[in-house]
Amino acid sequence: MATDVKKLVIIGSGPSGYTAALYAARANLSPVVYTGYQHGGQLTLTTDVENFPGFPEGIQGPELMSNMRAQAERFGAELRDRDVTAVDFSQRPFRVTTHVKPFSAEDDEVEWADAVIVATGASAMWLGIPGEEQYRGYGVSSCATCDGFFFRNKRMVVVGGGDVALEEAIFLSRFASELTVVHRRDTLRASKAMQQRALNNPKIRFMWDTVVEEVLGEKHPQTGAARVTGARVRNLKTGEESVLPTDALFVAIGHRPNTHIFHGQIPLDERGYAVARDVEGTATAVEGVFVAGDVRDYRYRQAVTAAAEGCKAAMDVEKWLEERGEADVDPTGEVYAGLMVEPATEPAVEPATELAVEVGASQA
Ligand code: NAP
Repeated sequence: MATDVKKLVIIGSGPSGYTAALYAARANLSPVVYTGYQHGGQLTLTTDVENFPGFPEGIQGPELMSNMRAQAERFGAELRDRDVTAVDFSQRPFRVTTHVKPFSAEDDEVEWADAVIVATGASAMWLGIPGEEQYRGYGVSSCATCDGFFFRNKRMVVVGGGDVALEEAIFLSRFASELTVVHRRDTLRASKAMQQRALNNPKIRFMWDTVVEEVLGEKHPQTGAARVTGARVRNLKTGEESVLPTDALFVAIGHRPNTHIFHGQIPLDERGYAVARDVEGTATAVEGVFVAGDVRDYRYRQAVTAAAEGCKAAMDVEKWLEERGEADVDPTGEVYAGLMVEPATEPAVEPATELAVEVGASQA
């Protein structure tokens, strides 16, 4: 039985999670934020961020995230560096289970919340081929900006034909002795501007209609140190197989939303992205559960759009709590400054059984 119920739990610590925390904390919602063990999200894997407004000279990704974290904490958000392992949104208060320590089921802790913002973001997709996992960290990477430096003056391969693949190829071309983009079709998915930059880059060579089928490497028999030596590739049109020698392989084939713990809890689309009730808002079909950032956005996926959604989610939560008389907020305060706040009406709470049916139905 829930004794201490938090007004708001936020799950996730990318730009959306931290921005939601900042706004919610300033609105007196005393949010508890489960940041995950590896907090900070995808931006902690990048170096220069040049398109986040307010930093004319750019800022390093990890520094931007640590600034966002500090700003949320300054206003009273309680940050807990733990992974959420399960949620139960079938009735309120919602139940959120977290690991206190990695890999220790015994230390599960349960928190209860009136409202939850899901801001768990997305993660890099992998090819799922032999050698990929074995050599991850030894030449196989999903983050050029993190690992490119280690392969200075070495041969590199980038897999993919989207904006990220080309962005990474252009970045890596500064370091590489040779750089090949391996793409499974003969047309790129990336924007025209990005295509032009990559196609005009003399360091970048393209291998069209080709897939990587295995990452090749070797392990030192004494020290155990591993390294990538090549990629076994196959041309999809001719069927011809060959070995492409390389020292590093960067996989840039898209991202997957981090929604595995929300299956059966909130509506997800066929790709697994969380679905809000309407395009502009952040409320889901489950009363009291809101979604923000890359976990529900496969289109824009920018730090600034994720941050904006975190802000919207906090405002939506505050309005939702306010309508139920559950928020201790000053309607003339910052969040609602300039907005009309409707007087609290009858609580529009649906019975738990109907919620469960609604979620299940929308996923069928
Ligand atoms: P993406 O646009 O979905 O591109 C993924 C690429 O990987 C596609 O070329 C796809 O091939 C390929 N691919 C997928 N699965 C594969 C597999 N199993 N084996 C081999 N290749 C595979 O993803 P993204 O590049 O990560 O970009 C995500 C979103 O962020 C996009 O909307 C993008 O425009 C945006 N973005 C924009 C910018 C910018 O404007 N500056 C920068 C970065 C990202 P197919 O083409 O054959 O499907």
